Amino acid sequence: MPKPVLDTLGNLPETHKLYGGCFHCQRTFEVDKAVLIARLGPDCSTLTALKKVTCRECGRPAQVVRGHAGGEGKRD
Ligand SMILES: [Zn+2]
Repeated sequence: MPKPVLDTLGNLPETHKLYGGCFHCQRTFEVDKAVLIARLGPDCSTLTALKKVTCRECGRPAQVVRGHAGGEGKRD
């Protein structure tokens, strides 16, 4: 049995955060998962969805990194 694709927007855990960054205007922003789901549907693969994220300021494609809430700031 092939493994179903689990890395979809609908499967992202609550703590999983997406952060966008724009090289052009140096902005960073948090990507709202709900907006992506509304646009692309919960079955859309996360990787595909992240490629469609654009900068809120200049509208150019943004780089998106993934992280977990509460996981930051733990380096010593
Ligand atoms: Zn920008």
